[in-house]
Amino acid sequence: MYQINEDLAVQVGLTQKDRKKLDKLYNKIMNILRQSYLDKKSKIKADKKVRDLEFQMQSIWKFDQNSFYHKYRFFFKGCECFNKKGIFIPSSRCEFHKRLTKR
Ligand SMILES: [Zn+2]
Repeated sequence: MYQINEDLAVQVGLTQKDRKKLDKLYNKIMNILRQSYLDKKSKIKADKKVRDLEFQMQSIWKFDQNSFYHKYRFFFKGCECFNKKGIFIPSSRCEFHKRLTKR
């Protein structure tokens, strides 16, 4: 169940419709995270899906679309990226996010 920060929800003016959408997106993300991904290709594909869903959540919350503030992408089993103060920092050791370290 998606936990909503009520203070923030009031602040940004989330509607019931927004809440339902967030709940749906959250469930979609959890379904993706629950599965096992063996090869590199499927890991990257799964991460891209979660990234897109996180962007959709950010837009409902009226946040800037910023992948550094994604949080569910860490929840892949085997993700080795850093989560410093809630900021997403890809690690070259992580099979899901290694590609993001190349600039
Ligand atoms: Zn990672």
